[in-house]
Amino acid sequence: MPAHCASCGAPGAPCCETCQTVWGSLSEITRAPTAGLVPVYALARYADEARRLILAYKERGRRDLAPSLGRALAEALPRIRPEHCLVPVPSRRHASRVRGGPHVQRMAEECAKVLVSKGNLATVAPVLKLKAGVRDAAKLTRAERAVNLDGRIRLVPGIRPERVILLDDVITTGATAAACTRMLDASGIHVSAVVALAAAG
Ligand SMILES: [Zn+2]
Repeated sequence: MPAHCASCGAPGAPCCETCQTVWGSLSEITRAPTAGLVPVYALARYADEARRLILAYKERGRRDLAPSLGRALAEALPRIRPEHCLVPVPSRRHASRVRGGPHVQRMAEECAKVLVSKGNLATVAPVLKLKAGVRDAAKLTRAERAVNLDGRIRLVPGIRPERVILLDDVITTGATAAACTRMLDASGIHVSAVVALAAAG
């Protein structure tokens, strides 16, 4: 485990206290495609420290950032609801394998752990999966993302929470969050909000 901040390189914690302050409270993203249907929130703009931390976490194997990211989410979430069932946006299976497991789920689990330790009700329900053949969304346009996801998200058998918060790492076009929200909605699972660490633009 590297003993330095993944953003600024300061020796010590995976994310130093200064860089951790990049995660603010929830601000609503009004231009997301789910806007009007479901409120979409992010804790930071996808730039500088936020971008470095997210990229280190999801692309460069810094899974040791999961607790600090989970803590940032846990500090922001109680403003939405007193209890939370978190549904992580699914990761592609190949990407997950290469990068050390479904990264949004891991972040959700760390977040729930913090919420529970503070006396809140919080659970993680990884009810969404991506079918094989989904391309990495990073380099796709909005239209390509929509096609990429069309019919490719599936619901795993098992629990059906009534009301959930959809959790993502970065909202770029919002197409992924919108597709997941539609899928959940069609399955009778109400999405009360979409929350991401950061929003691009
Ligand atoms: Zn730092």
